[in-house]
Amino acid sequence: MSIPDLLWLLLPVAAAAGWFAAKRSDERSGAHSTKAFWDYSSEFHEGLNVLLSDQPATPEGLFSNSSDAARNTADTHIALGNHYRQRGDMERAVFMHTSIVDNEELDDDVRAMARFELARDYESAGLLDRSEAAFKDLIQSGHQVDEAHQSLLQLHERESDWQQAIVVATAAQNHNDKSLGWRIAHYYCELALESIKAAERHLADEQLIKALRHDEACARASMMLADLALEEGEYSRANELYERVEQLRPELVPEIIDKRFDVFRKAGNASELDEFLKRIHSQRNAYSVIRSTREVIATRFNSQLADRFFKDQILKRPSLKGLRDWAHDQVELSKPGERDKVQVICDLLDKVVEDKPAYRCSSCGFQGNVMHWRCPSCGQWDSVSTIIGVEGE
Ligand SMILES: [Zn+2]
Repeated sequence: MSIPDLLWLLLPVAAAAGWFAAKRSDERSGAHSTKAFWDYSSEFHEGLNVLLSDQPATPEGLFSNSSDAARNTADTHIALGNHYRQRGDMERAVFMHTSIVDNEELDDDVRAMARFELARDYESAGLLDRSEAAFKDLIQSGHQVDEAHQSLLQLHERESDWQQAIVVATAAQNHNDKSLGWRIAHYYCELALESIKAAERHLADEQLIKALRHDEACARASMMLADLALEEGEYSRANELYERVEQLRPELVPEIIDKRFDVFRKAGNASELDEFLKRIHSQRNAYSVIRSTREVIATRFNSQLADRFFKDQILKRPSLKGLRDWAHDQVELSKPGERDKVQVICDLLDKVVEDKPAYRCSSCGFQGNVMHWRCPSCGQWDSVSTIIGVEGE
């Protein structure tokens, strides 16, 4: 950035600093309305504009483009208010934005922009009711509608108010013809989760069906329906639904593999289980799938077959977790004199694996060991997934 650019950026800061210094000394007189600030700041701006440009400082030069100048000053006030909000100075942020909202001489669109930022100030300050009301006003007035819808959605998500989120998402997609079905499906899944916690299974079922109506590719809804079917003993339905999850999002297989085996075991369907095992054997699998399948093969057939499967698979898809399991196997097999050394390697690998996160957000890089449908750090949906590779699955 060149020095003149920097100077221009610093001008509004200088204007505001001057104003706030004056405001502090005038505090007792009560002479610091937003209107007064506007006049002060506009004059400051225009004066500097003339001073720093090559134009002669005639009255004509000052007033010929007065609406452009007012617009420039308004934009600067909004940017400065945003800057204060980012710094956590809510009083100044609200003051700067209110100075635009209250100025009836300005165009509606620029005042709407300021109203939008004011709503965000309230949100940052934790005044969620005021923030919600301000966003709704904007939508009602037909200004900044898409942005206000997005902000309202985030606000309802933050409060876990899923019913309201559904209302706003539906209005948003009606307004701009852009489908938010995938997001509405997640809201229904969240509602279903609440219903399950409240032991209202029937309601949960209905909510999950609604989720699929909004987004038939919603793997989460299929997975939750499958879990409910498994609990209800509807094994063939559960199997179909888990199969669908696998087709929709193969990376979710580690999340459902144990339940899939549970379905086969409870349904007592040995031939289907064998078909499934054959399929797993023929492909490269994630570590969790390899580990669970190894146990099932050992129970259904014998441990030699299970160990052979394990070795084949680990060679096909090496991972630290697989290596750790293999090292643990070697403790038993090693000679008494060497056992201590192998145990040291095991302990080391245990430590390394323990420190590795299992999931990562593709949007913000957040890492953790719990699966989230919505990233707890950046708020994105469907952005957290299993870490694939040597250090993960
Ligand atoms: Zn994230």
